[in-house]
Amino acid sequence: MAGLTISNVTKTFGDYDAVKDVSLDVRDGEFLAVLGPSGCGKTTLLRVVAGFEKISSGQIRIGSDVVSNASGSVPPEKRRVGIVFQNYALWPHMTVAENVGYSLRVAKVDKAVARQRVADALSLVNLDGLADRRPANLSGGQRQRVALARCLVAAPSLVLFDEPLANLDVHLRASMEDEFAAFHKRTGTTIVYITHDQAEAMALADRIAVMDHGRLAQLATPRDLYREPANEMVASFIAQGIVLPAKIMSAEQGGHVRAEVLGQEVVVRCRPGEQPRADAKICIRPPDLEIAGKGEAGFDATVTRAIYKGGAVRVELSPVLQPDLHLHVERPEPGSFEPGSQIRLKITSGWLIPNGKPA
Ligand code: ATP
Repeated sequence: MAGLTISNVTKTFGDYDAVKDVSLDVRDGEFLAVLGPSGCGKTTLLRVVAGFEKISSGQIRIGSDVVSNASGSVPPEKRRVGIVFQNYALWPHMTVAENVGYSLRVAKVDKAVARQRVADALSLVNLDGLADRRPANLSGGQRQRVALARCLVAAPSLVLFDEPLANLDVHLRASMEDEFAAFHKRTGTTIVYITHDQAEAMALADRIAVMDHGRLAQLATPRDLYREPANEMVASFIAQGIVLPAKIMSAEQGGHVRAEVLGQEVVVRCRPGEQPRADAKICIRPPDLEIAGKGEAGFDATVTRAIYKGGAVRVELSPVLQPDLHLHVERPEPGSFEPGSQIRLKITSGWLIPNGKPA
């Protein structure tokens, strides 16, 4: 296996930068998810790493080999990159073993060696015993595992997944997530996993690269993305973060500041060195919002909608002081949250969104 280093890569289509000055490294054996809204450049990034597209500027290295730079590009078949697509792309007339061994047959690998490599690859994805089936007689999850075995049989340096679970139903997705995680643990394969599903990215990845309009917005562990978003886009994109205007009043001990938010004073976490300022923004999560007790600091909000979520109610609200802002909390049922009624809320914690460059 090998690591991947992407340095200042830009990919332009006409005059549009689909990927803009992206730098990131994937360590040998790491599972990196690339996450972002539709059109943010995830697939383009995968395609330049695979070698299907030439880059406009920058450099891509796989291990110590430069595979793309402005003056040249190693063709896809020489990169030793395996790709698992969302539509599996299996040959329907071939058995599982024939599908998996196809590239070895084309490369004229000795038959006995090929048979063993196919058996090893099927075993890695827990498909022993299904070698003679045809794709039509497999479940969606099994087909996806055949696609994974087919890519592993070629002993790739790194494996790219392009939304591999997008075609599966919600139950199968969860079990395939477990399988991918177990597979990664077992093999130590270096993986770049493209997805727009953040729950999937959070569950699987060592680190997540969040993309926004072709740029890398933040590269961090799932926990750090959730707790310490680097900018407003990441704050609101990850786990439905709520971004609120704040005035920073003072720096407090141990990575905290005292802020005024919607008329309430609250102490929130921050990066070191934050100073008082008027135009700040904080990110809070639904669990950071509670119903205020009598006499407690807080603010009034009007219920705009209540949605039953099975065992809980998602209550959407707007602060009376700033009705253009949208808040939401999850409350256990039963509860009466009539649209138009008012509730007093308090913010219990949060994160000061840093000024300036992403971490
Ligand atoms: P999705 O999640 O919807 O698949 P994505 O994040 O993978 O989106 P890309 O497919 O990488 O996004 O596209 C990024 C941008 O580049 C889009 O605006 C897209 O229209 C544009 N783009 C992609 N490929 C081309 C191309 N061959 N020619 C022109 N524009 C392109």
